[in-house]
Amino acid sequence: MALERLLKGFADFRLGYYREHLELFEKLATEGQSPRILIIACADARVDPGILTQTRPGDIFTVRNVAAMVPPAQFPPDTRHHGTSSAIEFAVRGLGVEHVVVLGHALCGGIGALVDGRDSVYADYDYLSTWTSIAQEVRELAVRELKGKSRADITRAVEQAAVLNSLQNLMSFRWIAEKVAAGTLRLHGWWFNMTEGQLYAFNPATATFEAVEGIEVVPTVMKGTALSSIKPERLLAAVAGKKPAF
Ligand SMILES: [Zn+2]
Repeated sequence: MALERLLKGFADFRLGYYREHLELFEKLATEGQSPRILIIACADARVDPGILTQTRPGDIFTVRNVAAMVPPAQFPPDTRHHGTSSAIEFAVRGLGVEHVVVLGHALCGGIGALVDGRDSVYADYDYLSTWTSIAQEVRELAVRELKGKSRADITRAVEQAAVLNSLQNLMSFRWIAEKVAAGTLRLHGWWFNMTEGQLYAFNPATATFEAVEGIEVVPTVMKGTALSSIKPERLLAAVAGKKPAF
């Protein structure tokens, strides 16, 4: 039944969207893809970057994994299978995207599992906790800084701080740091709240995620941005109600 829904959907796509955008598909087929934006998002079925941003085929290059995480660069490169890193490398070095967006989201199961740690129902899975441990330090910091707050508050803080952690990890790839320094690549930290249908962007000046509606959204990391301004510690201090130390 579930699969029939997909096939019906494809039939509708073929007769509708595909025909309506025939010129676009012909162009993409003959000229190839040239997206200017890479979005790294969660694999969560409720957070589809293409639908959230109402983009067309060819507009965004998308990487999706558990909790929208970016691992630190492995240097020198080894022979293990770095799925996320290789997709980022292709988008940045191969396609020459101008923007990278890390898109976290509310009610993220991957972040919830990270927060719950050994108490998580997924704790015994083969790969999950190893993957989400990319943000383990952020998790420990949040639990410490936000002691006494609810699990929901801590999880939300980790969802957002993990986005900053991934931005920091992006900067550990030499070809990303070089392009940011040259002014040809900008990094963005975003977080989507599906409960209220609002998108937030991290503002390094205030160390908080701010709703994008009606404001001028500035890149989180661009040429000249001090990496200290995107430290997860600053965000967690702001969430805890302390004045964030720069
Ligand atoms: Zn998620």
